[in-house]
Amino acid sequence: MTQPEYEAIIIGAGMSGLYQLHRLRQLGMKVLVLEAATGVGGTWYWNRYPGARFDSESYSYGYSWSPELLQDWDWSEHFAPQPETERYLNHVADRFDLRRDIRFETRVTSAVFDEAAHRWLVTTNTGEQISARYCVMATGCLSVPKAIDIPGADTFRGEVYRTSDWPREGVDFRGKRVGVVGTGSSAVQTITEIAPHVGSLHIFQRTPSFSIPAHNGPANPDVVRDWRANRESRRQAERDHPIGIVAAVVTEKLAMETPAEERNREYEQRWAKGGFAIGGVYMDFLVTKEANDTFVDFLAEKVRGIVKDPETAEKLIPRTYPVGSKRICVDTGYFEVFNRDNVTLVDVSRTPITVTPQGVKAGEAEYEVDCLVYALGFDAMTGALDRIDIRGRGGIALKDKWGAGPRTYLGLMVAGFPNLFVVTGPGSPSVLSNMVVSIEQHVDWISDCIATMGERQMDVIEATEAAEEMWVAHVNEVAGMTLYPQAASWYMGANVPGKPRIFMPYAAGVGVYRQLCNDVVAKGYEGFAMSSSARR
Ligand SMILES: Cc1cc2nc3c(=O)[nH]c(=O)nc-3n(C[C@H](O)[C@H](O)[C@H](O)COP(=O)(O)OP(=O)(O)OC[C@H]3O[C@@H](n4cnc5c(N)ncnc54)[C@H](O)[C@@H]3O)c2cc1C
Repeated sequence: MTQPEYEAIIIGAGMSGLYQLHRLRQLGMKVLVLEAATGVGGTWYWNRYPGARFDSESYSYGYSWSPELLQDWDWSEHFAPQPETERYLNHVADRFDLRRDIRFETRVTSAVFDEAAHRWLVTTNTGEQISARYCVMATGCLSVPKAIDIPGADTFRGEVYRTSDWPREGVDFRGKRVGVVGTGSSAVQTITEIAPHVGSLHIFQRTPSFSIPAHNGPANPDVVRDWRANRESRRQAERDHPIGIVAAVVTEKLAMETPAEERNREYEQRWAKGGFAIGGVYMDFLVTKEANDTFVDFLAEKVRGIVKDPETAEKLIPRTYPVGSKRICVDTGYFEVFNRDNVTLVDVSRTPITVTPQGVKAGEAEYEVDCLVYALGFDAMTGALDRIDIRGRGGIALKDKWGAGPRTYLGLMVAGFPNLFVVTGPGSPSVLSNMVVSIEQHVDWISDCIATMGERQMDVIEATEAAEEMWVAHVNEVAGMTLYPQAASWYMGANVPGKPRIFMPYAAGVGVYRQLCNDVVAKGYEGFAMSSSARR
């Protein structure tokens, strides 16, 4: 059955999809949002594991486009917990009456460009087909959890949980023997939260994470007042900032030209501030190994100072990648957990694990548990797009086009896929930034572009092959000047077997990127071809 025609379809009702709907409605367009979940929120709908919370400061998260909304909302903690962010996004949906254009529990399975009609034909899991002039992929960079690919996983007889789709009713771990597989951001938060409540906790660690304390606590009324009074100037500063987080004060200094004593003082100050305050510390921090090592050494000493058992401390210190080349975790007492009698770190870096009916086997040792928690991360940046059969001109599948790694122009569009926009797509700063800042920029850019098309009486836009080629080369060139490619990270697709290893985000920074996008517009949408289907 073919549904009524829309001018735009947005896939996903997270932070990106909600704002995109609001903006396109303002243009007077007939828009439909399709969302797999039963509610709005995206990341903050799905990730409801114990301890789930921001790792960027609450005050800098949240939309900046509505003065009324800014007045409505104050965060309760420096790093607010997941239920609060979910409430916030529900509040936005209600305040702007967004739900009436969102269809929940609807998963998009394919999106095919009809070259004759110049429209996208979107098919859902229920077999419905919906057509629209424009299709916006607001499908999220971290919305597809990695499959549980550990041998024997299906034989386990106990309870199984995944951080990325935790039961809404919660889990009672009291007195139980729990195993956690994974030690990335979600694992660090879960482990810290559940350790005091479980009978025993075994943590299976393949690669340790660098983690910085959040120093979380209730929001200080003075800080809240200050942010309220200066919200617009702060957001403006975030827009020009390399990672979009003003707490990360950027210096022009080089670590290698700074005396060790002064450097350590700086690191101590940033550690005391907590969280991503460390970003921007030295210009060469993510450029040369020597500079990076100075911070690695500092963090290693911190771990040794917190964790009482020296052997465990050494296992918790990352040695195989530069700090910052994988996402840094932000914690509330993570390393302290390893001083508890009921917690055991199992280093499985050299002995791949298998799951048995009773628990987890690593080498000769078997650890019996009642519950297993998988915190395995995400098929990042391309995962959600790969799972939709997206076909552009000539029936070319996006998945095939991206067989050797994602190719976009500005992370916004793909040559051969007209009128298809991606919010925070590969080739844009996205996951290297305060995501809200990047999301707002992309949604604004896309909305302004569609408005311009209307003004010019055009209705087909696509990136040229040449512009895409140039952009892909530039993204790779920038990544090549950093230490990022040295880590087997999800930024590189290295956590998913068979995924091409290529550094996916754009690493030159949010401010630089924004300027480039603005320049493209100022030059008449340079690198894009606009046309009118009526005049063909
Ligand atoms: C645990 C966790 C903590 C995070 N913490 C922070 C933080 O502190 N600061 C920060 O800046 N960022 C953080 N992020 C990043 C976070 O993803 C972004 O901040 C932001 O929420 C992304 O919004 P989005 O709308 O782009 O994507 P998402 O929130 O991922 O929403 C995408 C939506 O699209 C839907 N969807 C996908 N495919 C389909 C399909 N085929 N059909 C229908 N619907 C589909 C999904 O169900 C989902 O609801 C975190 C991410 C995670 C996973």
